[in-house]
Amino acid sequence: MIRQMKDTGWIEVITGCMYSGKTEELIKRLRRAIIAKQKVKVFKPALDDRYSEKKISSHNKNMLDAIVVMHSDDILSQVEENDEVIGIEEVQFFDEKIIDVCKYLADSGKRVIVAGLDQDYLGQPFENTMRLMAEAEFVTKLLAICVKCGNLANRTQRTVKKKDRIVVGSVGLYEARCRKCFDPELKNEESKG
Ligand code: ADP
Ligand code: ZN
Repeated sequence: MIRQMKDTGWIEVITGCMYSGKTEELIKRLRRAIIAKQKVKVFKPALDDRYSEKKISSHNKNMLDAIVVMHSDDILSQVEENDEVIGIEEVQFFDEKIIDVCKYLADSGKRVIVAGLDQDYLGQPFENTMRLMAEAEFVTKLLAICVKCGNLANRTQRTVKKKDRIVVGSVGLYEARCRKCFDPELKNEESKG
């Protein structure tokens, strides 16, 4: 599909719950672009510091160098004219201007690949990801494995009682659950926190 795109930019969204393999898939696409000798830049929000600072990093420790930015505008100031592929990790954590930033980059002829959660711990859509899914040419929705029953999982279960929408971390704080085992209010289990 993507091979048919010529003389234009576009947006690819890689989405799903936590542990579904979004970062792995993002790293795979970016590595292949690097192998093809394209000019690649990868950005991640300053908020997410899991495993390492200036890298994007999957749960199985696959890594790629990244530029850490505070605001979506900082992406525009660091992208150069000859950059061809722009990767953006954890897109749900950026301010809402990220949508215009992605549009602008795609309109300028760049391939923009974003990875991000589609739902928060209550199962509500993350606005950035939702809007970018509408805007994108290509959307890949990945599934994890439910840690309770082994079915395919599309929900991110928070295992501690915290009401903030964003609580950064993964091991011990979140797990992948299917629709049946998802328990956002932690009704069926003892909270660990
Ligand atoms: P995401 O970016 O979507 O959170 P990652 O790409 O960082 O996901 O990690 C995916 C990897 O996490 C898998 O390849 C697997 O090794 C590991 N993993 C751990 N728990 C699960 C689970 N419940 N379901 C699927 N993969 C899991
Ligand atoms: Zn389940």
